[in-house]
Amino acid sequence: MVLARRMEPLIEGSSAIRRLFEEGKELAERVGAENVYDFSLGNPSVPAPEAVKETAVRTLETQDPLYVHGYMLNSGFEDVRTAVADDLNGRFGSNLRMQDIIMTCGAATGINVILHLFLDPGDEVIAFAPFFGEYRNYVIAAGGTLKVVPADTETFQLNIDVLDELITERTKLVIVNNPNNPTGVIYSGQTLDRLQEVLEKAQTRIGHPIYVISDEPYRELVYDNNTVPFMPAHIRNCLIVYSFSKSLSLPGERIGYIAISPEIEYYREVQGGLTTTNRILSVNAPSLMQLVIKDCLRERPQLEVYDANRKLLYGKLTELGFECVRPQGAFYLFVKSPLKDCTAFVEEGKKQHILMVNAESFGCPGYVRLAYCVSGEMIKRSFPAFERLAEACKNYEQA
Ligand code: PLP
Repeated sequence: MVLARRMEPLIEGSSAIRRLFEEGKELAERVGAENVYDFSLGNPSVPAPEAVKETAVRTLETQDPLYVHGYMLNSGFEDVRTAVADDLNGRFGSNLRMQDIIMTCGAATGINVILHLFLDPGDEVIAFAPFFGEYRNYVIAAGGTLKVVPADTETFQLNIDVLDELITERTKLVIVNNPNNPTGVIYSGQTLDRLQEVLEKAQTRIGHPIYVISDEPYRELVYDNNTVPFMPAHIRNCLIVYSFSKSLSLPGERIGYIAISPEIEYYREVQGGLTTTNRILSVNAPSLMQLVIKDCLRERPQLEVYDANRKLLYGKLTELGFECVRPQGAFYLFVKSPLKDCTAFVEEGKKQHILMVNAESFGCPGYVRLAYCVSGEMIKRSFPAFERLAEACKNYEQA
């Protein structure tokens, strides 16, 4: 085999996702796109704020093209990094400095940069189920092993007691995603304090620090006046990963950052290492987008649109008897399969032209994820299909 052995399962896995995509396309051709209810992708349905376009146009028209499109420091433009640090300090009372911010090609690259810096072959990363399925691919591609803390299906908060049992001398990193994709749950400050306690004890036991990647692309996507705890206020060795993909609807533009808590152990080594690893994996984040987000840090997502979708979908599905986690943030609904066989449930959904993602790949079998970053119209149109699905499930159990 010419390809790296560790990559084989990843390539197979991604062809499964492609199959789902192709099935959806084929279904749309057969029954008409308006009759397909595709809840599979977390692609924002609200366009980027006007300010993004205005800033991009102004930047292109008024700034020196050699500056706008040129190479730069691998961590990004210094004024952009300062603006990001100031913005976070103003909102969260932190003391971040320009050097603590490394601009990245979105959250995916931020996470990959950290993994590549920390992992030797066989080193372990711990994620809490349910988790963003790509973590597994990222960890394996970086040569590591992903260990999964099973979900606490009562609360869907972090299952801290089990975490302790999974920590070994090979544990380098823990990933926490707040608010969570796929449940929409926000982890509380109390939960995060417990996480810090367990990590502190474990670090003494294993003799080296464990760093927490706080993956926060949905930080501003929260409902009912909820807030997301600022991670470095609870976790000492914290590396925040942020992305503008969801908050400013810019997933194709690849822009985000890593914020290094100044309190972390081995700060100098980690900061220097992340800068170099960013250079190796992506050289630098897209320059035009850096300049754009610098002037758009106060822009916020159109929460009311996602909130209306959340209420519509959650309301209808619970009315039909589906057991759903009530989302506090992000734009996903996590639904328990009413059938023992979750694959059969997903297939029954397809028969009604509803596309849902089996949460097995998120480390939480028996559940599906529905992304409600779609049009409200589509959600309303899907209601009869969900009614038929609920009916089909009742009959299925009896059959
Ligand atoms: N982390 C989580 C939890 C996500 O849901 C996503 C995208 O869906 C990402 C990371 C990757 O985001 P980005 O587009 O910034 O790479």
